[in-house]
Amino acid sequence: MILDIRGEYHNYIELAAKTIREGGLVGMPTETVYGLAASAFDERAVKSIFDIKGRPQDNPLIVHVDSLPMARGLGEFGEKALKLAGAFWPGPLTLVVKSLGKIPASVSAGLDTVGLRMPDCDAALSLISAAGVPIAAPSANKSGSPSPTTAEHVAADFGDGLLVLDAGECRIGLESTVVDMTRETPVILRPGAVTREMLASIVGDVECANAFAPYEGGKPSAPGMKYRHYAPRADVTVVEGQSASVTEAIKYLYDKDLKKGEKPLVLARRENRKYYGKRDVMDAGSVNNAGETAKAIYALLRSADDKGYTKIYFEAVPKTGIGFAVMNRVYKAAAYNIVKV
Ligand code: AMP
Ligand code: MG
Repeated sequence: MILDIRGEYHNYIELAAKTIREGGLVGMPTETVYGLAASAFDERAVKSIFDIKGRPQDNPLIVHVDSLPMARGLGEFGEKALKLAGAFWPGPLTLVVKSLGKIPASVSAGLDTVGLRMPDCDAALSLISAAGVPIAAPSANKSGSPSPTTAEHVAADFGDGLLVLDAGECRIGLESTVVDMTRETPVILRPGAVTREMLASIVGDVECANAFAPYEGGKPSAPGMKYRHYAPRADVTVVEGQSASVTEAIKYLYDKDLKKGEKPLVLARRENRKYYGKRDVMDAGSVNNAGETAKAIYALLRSADDKGYTKIYFEAVPKTGIGFAVMNRVYKAAAYNIVKV
């Protein structure tokens, strides 16, 4: 059930906190994407998150806290981790630190680390405080499908039985930056709105695990990296290059699809829509603002599925700022099906 918490006269946060304390699950808004929340101390509740998402057991959950003291009770914060928390919390940054053993191992998929984040969202912070426990929450979607950026997306995946706190559309729309703080030089395991440049401005050198290549075996540092992710049912193709060549290539591929009986769709920069004539196009944000694309991308992928499109062409955005994280997710959604022109 979706409960709108934007009005004044309700006690839905308390109701949700009670559900969490009693071992239940709640759809929780955050500034990144909606999370599927449970008490991080409740092993049974945590197991049910993995079960209902269909999430592989070896993919750890992020633990959400309402304060730095709560985080420091759960993990070991070195000097750099403290600096980053000071600079970017509350915010879209998950710090992977050595676990103090308070959180059950299943939350971190048996690793001796824990991913901690203080979300920049009043509803989430109030829920954690009211529940009185740290909250384990992965994105509130069925494993593999696009992450949810509205309460309706959560309800579409999990049905009416789940209590979802509705705080409207997520402000950022992409999952948090995940940084491994257990090494001398921090390593970005998953890019997000807090960029490498932003991190480096606080702690100096920061490395980045390859954000644009498929997982090729071996032991990944962030287990989530090896799974197909963020993908709609439709086939996604990313088209990259000079703007004019990109539109021409997409028009060619689109028209070929039509002849084959496919139902193609273009996710285009707003300024480029006019070049596609009568072809089906959705607005994927302005050329000058990858933040708009970040905020819209998952909703666009879901809506393409809802409308029965079988092929999606995505005009690549520059891999700078949050565009870096956008392209990381879109490459995965496209299963690395990339056309360079
Ligand atoms: P999600 O919960 O769907 O946003 O995914 C969480 C991401 O954070 C996944 O890619 C995980 O692999 C990563 N993650 C969470 N905790 C840890 C950890 N302790 N060590 C490494 N990666 C983590
Ligand atoms: Mg996820």
